[in-house]
Amino acid sequence: MTELLYYPDNEYQKEFDAKVQKKKESKGYITLNQTLFYKEGGGQPTDKGKITWNDKEASVEKVKRKQEKIRHYIEGDFPEPDQEIHGEVDWDRRYKHMRMHTAQHVISWIVLNMYDASTAGNQIHEDYSRIDFEPAEFDEKDVEKIENGANSLIEKGLKVEKKEMERELVEEQMTEGRTNLDLIPDHVDPLRVVEIGGEDICPCGGTHVQNLDEIGEINIIERKSKGSNVERLKFELEEA
Ligand SMILES: [Zn+2]
Repeated sequence: MTELLYYPDNEYQKEFDAKVQKKKESKGYITLNQTLFYKEGGGQPTDKGKITWNDKEASVEKVKRKQEKIRHYIEGDFPEPDQEIHGEVDWDRRYKHMRMHTAQHVISWIVLNMYDASTAGNQIHEDYSRIDFEPAEFDEKDVEKIENGANSLIEKGLKVEKKEMERELVEEQMTEGRTNLDLIPDHVDPLRVVEIGGEDICPCGGTHVQNLDEIGEINIIERKSKGSNVERLKFELEEA
């Protein structure tokens, strides 16, 4: 098992020390006893960065979860098992993902409140992101309303809290349609949740900012119908 050092609320630490557990050079990865690198998943891309030890160095190109282990796919030197390494997250990339992911939650929240449409999927990138809503049919006016609604929440500077919460409590307090809890295996309890402004509760394993004012301004750059009743919105962020 790899301990996730960024959980449940430690997303601003950029460097860490860890011990190599397994080296699988033929497949290009190592596993560590603990890590700060976010593994791809939940629509959020992998962290990148580097690890160093003695006079050696490897770049971390991709991080993936395989059961309880986190595989760090690296390029460069390969450390041996039990080697102590120092890890550094590519913060520029990670912080963009944090701002984007929290922005996605804000838009998903607003759209659920205003149109009773759920988030059916999302994909975050450094420079733009997209969300699919269902059931939904938006026109240009709706897009403007969504953008304005999301940006006015950001202007309020609402706090973003990340914590563990009993599944039963999440079921009670989460707005219906915010996410499909059935997709999370029953044995996962407590759930890690992201709560914005004490109101929007959503189970999520991603990395997030602490306050909405870090997001900057949301610009919705595209609206597209994806089949019947599904609308896709693409957005960018302007620096805070
Ligand atoms: Zn999320």
